[in-house]
Amino acid sequence: MANNYLQFSEVFSFVGSEQREWFERFLPLLQQDALEEEEHGLRLQDLRELTVFLKANQGVFDQLESEIENGCFVDYVIEKDEERDEELVWVKSEEGSDFFPFCCLLHIFMHRFGVNDPWWLTWASWCSQPRVSEFSGGAVVVSLRGVWAHSVDDWVGKQLEILREDENPPVSFDCGRCNNKKLSTSFLHEIAGIAVCPSCFTLAMDEIKQAEDLEARKERNA
Ligand SMILES: [Zn+2]
Repeated sequence: MANNYLQFSEVFSFVGSEQREWFERFLPLLQQDALEEEEHGLRLQDLRELTVFLKANQGVFDQLESEIENGCFVDYVIEKDEERDEELVWVKSEEGSDFFPFCCLLHIFMHRFGVNDPWWLTWASWCSQPRVSEFSGGAVVVSLRGVWAHSVDDWVGKQLEILREDENPPVSFDCGRCNNKKLSTSFLHEIAGIAVCPSCFTLAMDEIKQAEDLEARKERNA
């Protein structure tokens, strides 16, 4: 038997009782059954209205809402760092804990309190047995603009795509003279090393011929 784990541990620092109250109001939404049904509905509605009012990223709120509706679980602690006179939200991986809903909520928090600095979290995915291909990880970045999560598997996929493109260049071309794009290379013509479509080629040939005729006439009249 092997177990797979998603692991992370990160803190977000904040200052003041107003920010603490905000977290205390909305963080329980990220824990299934932490609130009575009516209270849950009220706080979610507040968050929805706040997102619209603050012009936070609506897509991020929609993702958060669907995570909450599906019964997400985020393990967190709000605590005070006495030495630095800061308060912290500590998000960490316990059994079944996820970080993504917290990141979405944090995006709305950043809008509410004008936090300009991005925040990020890195995670590890690992397995209790050395099973092939079952070790991974990734990172998520949260800012006023949105939430971006990427696993190393996403990264590998992108690199493979780039390599494949290099090996198999596209079988179409864009005309260098007009707006014709993605033409089949069977129509490819060239003028002075520039790839052009057949009609631009014909036009260019006419222009060259006219210019030559003009030159010839000038010479005759000279
Ligand atoms: Zn053309």
